[in-house]
Amino acid sequence: MYDAIVVGARCAGSPTAMLLARAGHRVLLVDRAGFPSDTLSTHYIHQPGVARLLRWGLLDRVVATGCPPARRMTFDVGPFALTGAPTPADGADAAYAPRRYLLDQILLESASAAGAEVRERFSVGELLIEDGRVTGIRGREAGGATVTERAAIVIGADGMRSRVARAVGAPTYHERPGRTCAYYTYWSGVPLDGAELYPRDGRMVIAGPTNDGRTIVTVFWPRAEFHLVRADIERSFLEAVELAPSLAERLRAGRRAERFYGTGDLPFFFRRPFGPGWALVGDAGYHKDPLTAQGIGDAFRDAELLAGAIDEGVRGHRPLDDALADYERRRNEAALPLYDFTHELAGLEPPAPDMQALFGALRHDPGQTSRFFGVIAGTVPMAEFFARDDVAAGVA
Ligand SMILES: Cc1cc2nc3c(=O)[nH]c(=O)nc-3n(C[C@H](O)[C@H](O)[C@H](O)COP(=O)(O)OP(=O)(O)OC[C@H]3O[C@@H](n4cnc5c(N)ncnc54)[C@H](O)[C@@H]3O)c2cc1C
Repeated sequence: MYDAIVVGARCAGSPTAMLLARAGHRVLLVDRAGFPSDTLSTHYIHQPGVARLLRWGLLDRVVATGCPPARRMTFDVGPFALTGAPTPADGADAAYAPRRYLLDQILLESASAAGAEVRERFSVGELLIEDGRVTGIRGREAGGATVTERAAIVIGADGMRSRVARAVGAPTYHERPGRTCAYYTYWSGVPLDGAELYPRDGRMVIAGPTNDGRTIVTVFWPRAEFHLVRADIERSFLEAVELAPSLAERLRAGRRAERFYGTGDLPFFFRRPFGPGWALVGDAGYHKDPLTAQGIGDAFRDAELLAGAIDEGVRGHRPLDDALADYERRRNEAALPLYDFTHELAGLEPPAPDMQALFGALRHDPGQTSRFFGVIAGTVPMAEFFARDDVAAGVA
């Protein structure tokens, strides 16, 4: 009998298991994948996520993979580009984009080092549910026999198609269809000073530095164009990149080092993240388009919120249900502004006149440009930034 079983061992599951184990709880962490392994995801982590890695004592290991810091951000709106450094967060002034097979391995090892029992290549097939309460899991290691494990709480950190969420019928809300499709790949020989974003009419092109001296480049198109894009990914990709001439020129001088990866399945939804004997964290609990790169940092934040709530409940400091309701409230409060902003940006439409006026004003104001980048990074509250009269009037 465990205090908690965590299903899924990547950005949400491993930190949740690590934090619970560090707090002295008996934790089983399972994933059907073997590690180290890659997953379909680019990997830009804004400053708040980096601040959590620092707080957990894991940033040094990420830096030791050779992943370069990204301190500057460039937001190229076409006629001109805004450049600056986002407002820092809790000791973290840089973003990082470590490859997922490196990051997820570090997270998994940190959960194991904290005392969580880890089972890789273990697939959860069903939940045990007794009198309406989840009491455990049934699953098996690759090639092994089916086993049953019990816990006070089963945590679904099993991604947006969460089997745990499906098994308990977790209700969804704020649900909206996906608006984009995306493909990404890696280049070598392309120098980059931080992250570069090129919003264009019907496209978004994003580039950033990652491990092995490579540059990751991602292109977003409207979801309706997915079948056209997929018919000739390379051509669609290179045509979109040509809309960002300064980047296109550097890519032509470099070399594409990997194949294209992509998806057209990028929905928006929240799920109720708890119920009797179960909880959800990371993409299992809420999902959005990745074009603002919030998923990993959000998973880290929610791992902290959820582990804290379970710890309080299990220790009897407050009723577990109260603590979990607080987890849902705090998650939603933190996530909703950027969720809406991301949904708007995922429309890939030209900026509205007030935003155009804002960009024009930011061009001459490095301080406010940093704060605008802080909004995207999640270090400056959106309401605070847009509440300023000068910003609202586009004269920052
Ligand atoms: C194209 C794309 C680009 C992205 N770019 C970024 C970015 O730049 N920055 C960013 O912050 N976010 C980005 N994201 C989002 C980010 O990938 C996710 O938010 C993040 O991976 C969520 O982590 P997670 O641990 O919740 O889920 P996942 O990473 O999906 O992990 C879920 C794990 O659960 C395991 N699992 C599932 N079912 C079972 C089962 N039945 N039994 C056992 N194990 C199971 C899976 O094997 C998997 O390892 C991107 C996403 C996509 C698709």
